[in-house]
Amino acid sequence: MNQFTELLETFGQVETNARLKDMTTLRVGGHAEFVSYPRNMFALAQLIDFLKKNNVPYKVIGKGSNLLCSDDDFKGVIVKLDRTMNHWYIDGQRLLVEAGSSIIALSVFAARNGLSGLEWASGIPATIGGCIFNNAGAYNTSMRDNVTKVLILDNGDFRWISNEQCEFAYRSSVFHKKTDWVICAAEFELINKDEDEIRQTMDDRKKRRLESQPLEYPSAGSVFRNTETTNAWSLIEVSGLRGMSIGGAQVSVKHCNFIINKQDASANDVKNLIDLVKSKVELKTGIRLKTEVEMFNWNHTKIPHPSKR
Ligand SMILES: Cc1cc2nc3c(=O)[nH]c(=O)nc-3n(C[C@H](O)[C@H](O)[C@H](O)COP(=O)(O)OP(=O)(O)OC[C@H]3O[C@@H](n4cnc5c(N)ncnc54)[C@H](O)[C@@H]3O)c2cc1C
Repeated sequence: MNQFTELLETFGQVETNARLKDMTTLRVGGHAEFVSYPRNMFALAQLIDFLKKNNVPYKVIGKGSNLLCSDDDFKGVIVKLDRTMNHWYIDGQRLLVEAGSSIIALSVFAARNGLSGLEWASGIPATIGGCIFNNAGAYNTSMRDNVTKVLILDNGDFRWISNEQCEFAYRSSVFHKKTDWVICAAEFELINKDEDEIRQTMDDRKKRRLESQPLEYPSAGSVFRNTETTNAWSLIEVSGLRGMSIGGAQVSVKHCNFIINKQDASANDVKNLIDLVKSKVELKTGIRLKTEVEMFNWNHTKIPHPSKR
């Protein structure tokens, strides 16, 4: 084992040369040189400090359900929170939740405790941290409506910021600007409701998702952002792109704002298809679509191995 791996193990479990396709729902991407699973919040703070002091590139991720990782290897450390930082605490209608917790598991827990507010989130394969980062939402509700405050790690210090300070907007938050902040936990305020009623709403939503989304294939959910006036899917539809493919990637026939990994797609297949959709939609409608999916590890410069710096 090399010295760098040993140092990383101080903070928690470490994997080396791990496939990014196993850490993302689209199931594409090269390898990550290191993956760290910090054992708790304090280890996370120490880890980030260590990585910064040593100029090691890193990326904090949740379940990778909004990431399009390039086929290149990532020369740095993926800090993954879902394996260890996934505990919560219930106090009446208040839930205090660690950032690596699954939002699906949390919504099921809330339902079981007769707490309403997270029904919209019961089909999103993501962590609380990722959902806050993107202000994830569905059915006209989003994280903004449920989160009261967020515990962040800012330059080595933990502090709470309010809902307003999160600057939640359509699939966006202050964290898109403050890329240095790490979301550690959040507080949710929910309302009491009959468990059966909550379950019924969740079941209806699940049925709708199963009917309208290609959940049988790997994807990253909606690829393009809706414009102020139009749904991205309808622009793709009128441009005749439903079912269009490049390599193993396809514009889903079932929901044309999803690009699915139909068969062993590479990240390049997906990226090329995104670019093709953008240019064809612009040609047809004059509207340039923007991606909701985040590109990771594309325009990087070659950096020497962390242990050689
Ligand atoms: C089948 C499917 C359905 C989906 N449906 C929806 C939907 O209905 N609504 C919706 O909004 N989205 C949906 N998505 C997209 C996706 O789930 C959301 O964007 C989600 O917010 C991403 O969460 P994640 O934990 O996977 O984050 P990741 O994809 O791992 O990361 C996303 C970004 O968040 C940052 N991040 C993650 N955790 C932290 C943290 N603790 N601190 C700081 N930054 C962090 C990462 O660095 C990255 O920049 C869907 C995706 C899939 C695959």
